[in-house]
Amino acid sequence: MALVEHSRRPVDEVLIGSDGPERLEGRGIRLPLPCKRCGYDLQGLAATGVCPECGTPAPRSLEAAIDPTTHRLPPLLAPESVGNAVLGLGCLILLATLGLMVFQIMHLDWTVNRIPGLVRLVSTSAIFMAAACGLLGFWPIIKLWPTPGTVDPRDGRRGLGVLSIGLLIWIVGCGLVWLFPISSSGSWILMLLVPLLGGILSLEGLRKILIQIGARSRLFRTDRIRRQRIRDLMIGIGFVMVGILVILMGSSRSSGGSSVWWMLGRFNIGGEQQSGLAFLGLAMTVVAVVLLVIGLVYLCMNMAWIRRALIAPPPRLREYLDPPSGS
Ligand SMILES: [Zn+2]
Repeated sequence: MALVEHSRRPVDEVLIGSDGPERLEGRGIRLPLPCKRCGYDLQGLAATGVCPECGTPAPRSLEAAIDPTTHRLPPLLAPESVGNAVLGLGCLILLATLGLMVFQIMHLDWTVNRIPGLVRLVSTSAIFMAAACGLLGFWPIIKLWPTPGTVDPRDGRRGLGVLSIGLLIWIVGCGLVWLFPISSSGSWILMLLVPLLGGILSLEGLRKILIQIGARSRLFRTDRIRRQRIRDLMIGIGFVMVGILVILMGSSRSSGGSSVWWMLGRFNIGGEQQSGLAFLGLAMTVVAVVLLVIGLVYLCMNMAWIRRALIAPPPRLREYLDPPSGS
């Protein structure tokens, strides 16, 4: 008889929490719980009830608030420090990219010849910022480095290793870009490929780290629209690199006399002769860099989600409910 009764009960009356299934019947909500639809605070109401404002069943709001998956993962030793480190890494990567971007803008042919004094000042500070961000990136790496006792292949050590190598290449690349004499030839732009390669490696390291840490944020795990895929950012850097190669191909013979068909003609931009191919390469890098920066802003937002989930994880279903009656 009890079995029959159980099977007739609506599904809503049992929810799966991190401590297993919980019967909601006869239990109240004892923690502040915003209604999933309208935000009304459901604290004090019956767990099987509906929102007095909009009629959404309370179990739906409970389901939306809890995160059993996170609670089932092994706890982190210092979640707050890990959260800060992850958000710090995201912001440093964004700032470093902006630094290199400003440096590159300052060295476009038609900027560098117009306002040399300003260019020197801004580009030096920009490349210094890019390199400094790379250097500062080692601070979160130290924070994230697992304690010596734990030798778990899933503890993110490989990701941190790849990230460290990426940051080193980035810093060296920034130095090369800065030191390489710009006026000598158009080939200085090739030097940009070094920090960009470092950037791709750094992102690959971050991706490996986030596979471990990001699982603890329900929003990061489940959001399909605002979640920035790191692979897409790496492809974006790839497009910047291809664009640079196209610029180089386009500018290699732009000073010569007759142009070949694949140079796509000649343009006069700000008094400078540019081949169509060089312009195409430039357009490609500009579009890729803009998309990259937007993606990195999203990445920082994702890191903020992860930090919030680590510092203040959602209460367990059992904590939301009054103890079951009769126990
Ligand atoms: Zn409501």
